[in-house]
Amino acid sequence: MLPQQQTARIQHHRSSAMTDLRNRFTHIFFDADDTLWENESFFREAEAQFARLLSDWSGPEGLQQLLWQKQEENIPVFGYGSKTYLIGMTDAAMELCGGNLPLEIYTGIKKIIRDLTYHEFRIIEGVEETLKALCGRFELVVATKGDVTEQMAKYRKSGLSQYFHHIEVMENKTEENYLELASKHNLKPEQMLMVGNSVKSDIAPVINIGGYAINTPHEIVWTHEMMDMPESDRITIVKRIDDIPKLLL
Ligand SMILES: [Mg+2]
Repeated sequence: MLPQQQTARIQHHRSSAMTDLRNRFTHIFFDADDTLWENESFFREAEAQFARLLSDWSGPEGLQQLLWQKQEENIPVFGYGSKTYLIGMTDAAMELCGGNLPLEIYTGIKKIIRDLTYHEFRIIEGVEETLKALCGRFELVVATKGDVTEQMAKYRKSGLSQYFHHIEVMENKTEENYLELASKHNLKPEQMLMVGNSVKSDIAPVINIGGYAINTPHEIVWTHEMMDMPESDRITIVKRIDDIPKLLL
C-alpha cells in the first residue's frame, strides 16, 4: 500500500472566485503535471514497486522516509524528473544494502524508472474542453518545471500542443523564475494568470510577485510540494479545470 505520509487527500469543499477575472489577462499560463495530465499517481505506483523490490531490507515506511531524504538531497543537484528518482532509489537501496547493491536490485530499479517513463498517458478530465474554449481568446502557455526531454516528450504525446502558443520548461518555480517568465512575455507580474495544482509551485510564488492564480486541486500531492494555501483575493480555487472558462469569458 502507499505510505500515507506521501499522499494528501485534498478537501474539495472550497470553491471561490474572489476577484472578477474577466477582461484582465491576455495570457494564461498552465502547469502541466497533474494539471493537464496525470503524473503523481505514476510516481506513487513506482514507489510501491520500489517498496516491494526492497521488502527484504526495509519496511515501506522506513524506505519511504529514506527515499524522501535522498530525493531532497538530489533535487538541488540534478533537478526534477525520473532520472533523479533513479539516482534517489539507487542511493536509498545502496544505503540499505550496506554499499553492496545486488545487480538484480539495480536492474529492478531501472525497470521501475523505465516503466515510469513509458507509462500510459492520461489527460485530466475537462482539460481539452477548457483549452478549446480558451485558445482563441487568450495566448495559452504551458509553464512546467522539470527535465526538458521528459517534459517535451509528454507535451508532444499529449496532443494538446495545438491549443498552446508556447511551452516553457522552467528550471524551478520560484518567484524569480516567474518574474523572468513574465518579462519574457512582456507582461507585468499583475498581468500574469497561472493555473495549477501545486500551491507551492503554481500559486504562492505567483501571488507573492503580485500575479493571479487559479488552483485546480488534484487529490495526490507530492510531499515536496505540500504547502498551506496563502490568503489572497487574487487566488481562485476551482473544483475542476473546466470551471475556468466561465470565470474568464
Ligand atoms: Mg503540477
